[in-house]
Amino acid sequence: MPELPEVETVRKGLAPAVEGHVLKRVNAKRGDLRVAFPQRFSERLEGRRVMRLRRRAKYLLLDLDSKESLIVHLGMSGRLTIHGFDAPLRPGRFHNKTPEDGSGNGKHDHVVFETDEGTRIVFTDHRRFGLMTLLNTDALDEDALFKGLGPEPLDEAFTPAVLSAALRSKKTPIKSALLDQRVVAGLGNIYVCEALFRARISPKRLARSVAGVRAARLVPAIKAVLKDAIEAGGSSLRDYARADGELGDFQHRFAVYDREGMPCPAKGCKGKIKRIVQSGRSTFYCPSCQR
Ligand code: ZN
Repeated sequence: MPELPEVETVRKGLAPAVEGHVLKRVNAKRGDLRVAFPQRFSERLEGRRVMRLRRRAKYLLLDLDSKESLIVHLGMSGRLTIHGFDAPLRPGRFHNKTPEDGSGNGKHDHVVFETDEGTRIVFTDHRRFGLMTLLNTDALDEDALFKGLGPEPLDEAFTPAVLSAALRSKKTPIKSALLDQRVVAGLGNIYVCEALFRARISPKRLARSVAGVRAARLVPAIKAVLKDAIEAGGSSLRDYARADGELGDFQHRFAVYDREGMPCPAKGCKGKIKRIVQSGRSTFYCPSCQR
């Protein structure tokens, strides 16, 4: 599932193609993804100018000049690909050839946006766990999707004190607490494992015992691992691809994630990466240096 760095990578790739542009045509080829599209979905989008493309947690927010925002969640396997856009990004970004990789005619191409510049943006999702809806821009925080979401981990407001306060009442392991979007928004399984490794904190440790001195290590570790991943262009595991159709390469740099049995990459540590299951999901960590 795309996590914060992947969604941020999509945002950065998509922004120059949509910001300031009018959505000329919106072709929704079915009535729903995970949930139904809102009423008059295409009509409410067509002719609207995209003022800004933002990200909140794992959601993309396209603020329109109608004071509505188009909310996009990629779900498990959703992809947005850009076609016919000539901004000086990187060469070779239109190399996908199969219909399902972005012509807009593929079986799993569900929504096609066309801008006033002729750019086509295709949403492809063979599992249809994605989501698209329209909300009042001024009332986003009151909507069920955003209400109660924790702080953005890359914001300055996300500090050790803020994280400590959120963890103090938690009776779960720290791994599960960090996956709770009310504690911090946008983190998923991969980057939680990586951040805990960098902070040398065991994923099994009780969340409330991380409040204080360990949170002071954990917060910079979370920020660093996310920044590195965004720089590398998201990790593009399995079904995921970047907005420009290319794959990021961060997955080659995981320290612990999906590396069961491999030697721990921490300097001087002779431990081996172990896999355990917590709340039904795989956790990878080094039992020697993560305490
Ligand atoms: Zn180790």
